[in-house]
Amino acid sequence: MPKVYNWQIGREMDYPYEGARPKKQFAMLFDTNKCIACQTCTVACKTTWTPGRGQEYMFWNNVETKPYGYYPLGWDVKILEQHGVQDVGGPVYKGKTLFESAPSGERILGYLPEDLDYAHPNVGEDDSFGDMQQGELLQIPHMQWMYYLPRICNHCTYPACLASCPRMSIYKREEDGIVLLDQTRCRGYRECVKGCPYKKTFFNPITRVSEKCIGCYPAVEGGRQTQCTITCIGKIRLQGFIGKPDEIREDNPIDYIVRVAKIACPLYPQFGLEPNTYYIPPVHVPPRYLVQMFGAGVERAIAGYRKAADDEKLLGALLLFGATPMIIHHYKVEAGVSIGFDEKGGELVRVPLREAIHVRAAFDEQHQAYRTNIT
Ligand code: SF4
Ligand code: SF4
Repeated sequence: MPKVYNWQIGREMDYPYEGARPKKQFAMLFDTNKCIACQTCTVACKTTWTPGRGQEYMFWNNVETKPYGYYPLGWDVKILEQHGVQDVGGPVYKGKTLFESAPSGERILGYLPEDLDYAHPNVGEDDSFGDMQQGELLQIPHMQWMYYLPRICNHCTYPACLASCPRMSIYKREEDGIVLLDQTRCRGYRECVKGCPYKKTFFNPITRVSEKCIGCYPAVEGGRQTQCTITCIGKIRLQGFIGKPDEIREDNPIDYIVRVAKIACPLYPQFGLEPNTYYIPPVHVPPRYLVQMFGAGVERAIAGYRKAADDEKLLGALLLFGATPMIIHHYKVEAGVSIGFDEKGGELVRVPLREAIHVRAAFDEQHQAYRTNIT
């Protein structure tokens, strides 16, 4: 099997095809500390792309409450159990990826969910983990915790869906790294559904072929961010492109956050797919849980996020989340303002690093009334 380099696990690994990175790689950042699980992103995606027959159960974008929420049921727990205990603690991952754990004759270790696993899209919503005894004080990290995990297809560098498909129906676009499924080639074998550990391909029982997130490619081609990103109420998302491992650009907000400041981590990097969605981990959750989910860089990421206000470049990148519907290719911080630019260098948006605070008198003379809020 060919060897490919996976920067997220710090080593080469087996993959069924030769590695070839696209010219640009679609990427998305999520700040889990800001998500409020309003599901606006889910509805925006659903109404745009999957309102039809056979798509009723499809959620290309979903938001689940961790640790007990999953869609489909138990998607990560089931594959983690099959994968077995792995050492995820170091910069170079010593365990096996899912490709390296493939049973004989198969390309990846996977499983096919049951129909009923898709019956409860928001199971576990707002359930928290942990006990707090009567009279105990709240500590950091919290003894009781939960957080919201928004998920889309990761448009992986080494997609398991693509590797699993015997019909070669799934391909990765050279121009932007978006992973698409050619429904005219698909015969509905569901190998992609079995292979994708994130369970982000879906079988349509009416058309009898599979479907998946298309990364809103018509929008992306026009320089616009995806629907789930631009509708996000919490402004927790930033969609753009991540540089190749040897071409890190400090003026790309995604590169700066992921590769320079290192405050965002991939989802289950040990699976080996090099997923291209990156998560700023929740600061209140015990690191032991987070390391399994986001890899060895979690504690450093949380420490860096907590000190973001001391790094103007980082603060400037974080403030670009939700600031414009257009894709920001470059940015700079100048005179206390973060400025985002499009691919050709045209200015898209300006965001002040700090908002001016105006303090008003407690008594409003004009209305002869006391104010409850004076800022
Ligand atoms: S997340 Fe799943 S469906 Fe998306 S590219 Fe990766 S393997 Fe394919
Ligand atoms: S729209 Fe944004 S804040 Fe609301 S659930 Fe989706 S990711 Fe979270």
